[in-house]
Amino acid sequence: MVLDLTPEQRSYKESIERFARDTVAPRAAAIDESGEFPIDVLRAAAAHGLLGVTIPAAWGGAGRDYVSYALAIETIARASATVAASLVVTNSLVAELLAHAGREPQKTAWLRALATGEAIGAFALSEPGAGTDAANQQTFAEKHGGGYRIRGRKVWVANAEAAAVAVVFAATTAAAEPGGRPRGVTAFLVPMDAPGITRRARDESLGVRGLGCMDLDFDIVAAEDQVLGAVDQGFKLAMWALEGGRVGIAAQALGIGEAALAEAIAHAKTRQQFGEPIANYQAIQWMLADSATELAAARLLTWKAADAKDRQEHAAFEASTAKLAASEAAHRSADRAMQILASAGYRRGSIVERLFRDVRATEIYQGTSEAQRMIIAEQILELGN
Ligand SMILES: Cc1cc2nc3c(=O)[nH]c(=O)nc-3n(C[C@H](O)[C@H](O)[C@H](O)COP(=O)(O)OP(=O)(O)OC[C@H]3O[C@@H](n4cnc5c(N)ncnc54)[C@H](O)[C@@H]3O)c2cc1C
Repeated sequence: MVLDLTPEQRSYKESIERFARDTVAPRAAAIDESGEFPIDVLRAAAAHGLLGVTIPAAWGGAGRDYVSYALAIETIARASATVAASLVVTNSLVAELLAHAGREPQKTAWLRALATGEAIGAFALSEPGAGTDAANQQTFAEKHGGGYRIRGRKVWVANAEAAAVAVVFAATTAAAEPGGRPRGVTAFLVPMDAPGITRRARDESLGVRGLGCMDLDFDIVAAEDQVLGAVDQGFKLAMWALEGGRVGIAAQALGIGEAALAEAIAHAKTRQQFGEPIANYQAIQWMLADSATELAAARLLTWKAADAKDRQEHAAFEASTAKLAASEAAHRSADRAMQILASAGYRRGSIVERLFRDVRATEIYQGTSEAQRMIIAEQILELGN
């Protein structure tokens, strides 16, 4: 067992560190402040292959392994949680899903555009009544001529502000009645300029501001060739995509938690009270030590989950344990950083204040911490993982 990065992964991480330092970090505060979708940063990220990290070169991607993808997201998240979250949506939830389940013409239409950043992707699963219970879809796709008429509302669709294409999930079986429980869900590839899509601005959010989240009302007609994968098999595809997405969010959380720890260390070394740096006090040292330990443990789980994504057909257990551990470790790291900086952190506009707000979403999106515990429990109780 070699628990270390390969020389190639290490040098890739260094190149992303330079990009994050030079291009992403200088924009982070303004993205948070304005709440504007950072399309300029994403275009620059695309030039570094960050919109299709694991997508094969033949489709315009960087053709990297999943550990490299996790390293890239972690590194970007240290600079801007928003940019990292947006990258996870296009990479894991849209481009990888298309590479996994798409037919050749669908890939030709969208995969290269996604991987090169020409098109931003969105993933529309959540609904007003379908959050954690995502299978309870009340968006319905009824047979209509040679295709489907899709009607319903999706909420909290990240990247929606700028997305050119979305994966939209809808209930499809004949048994599905409005208000009833559908037996099947189908995924559709929907161009966001299709007639019948109404974008609705969301309320301001606490953190990851600038993620371009919108609610979307659909009353569209989709052709048969817009079905991604097989009819009624869309929920499985959503869960497959979310396995990768959860590795991405684990990596994002790590980046936020590390940034908070770095701020806490820098402050503890320079802030003097009672005639010496507060880093000399054991109470402060133990907070730093706990954050460093928890983040290191979560990093191993994240690497393990990323590696499992490359080696296994399914990585549900690994992805959920990584997301749960990393998001909760990062939350505690941001919380401790706030305590160590005290009033200097609580000040509006401080880096720690932004990290403190940003980190909270990692325990909510792509499945709450409770949802991750449900998945892990199912794996260990029923499947004996
Ligand atoms: C910033 C942001 C971006 C997002 N981006 C996207 C996106 O791009 N695409 C998309 O489709 N969705 C997106 N979402 C939606 C996100 O996936 C949901 O918010 C999430 O799945 C939780 O759903 P909910 O908010 O409806 O909470 P609910 O499901 O209503 O849950 C409320 C609480 O009850 C708990 N709970 C629910 N059921 C159970 C249970 N059986 N046992 C124990 N506890 C339970 C939950 O864990 C939570 O604590 C985004 C959300 C945010 C905040």
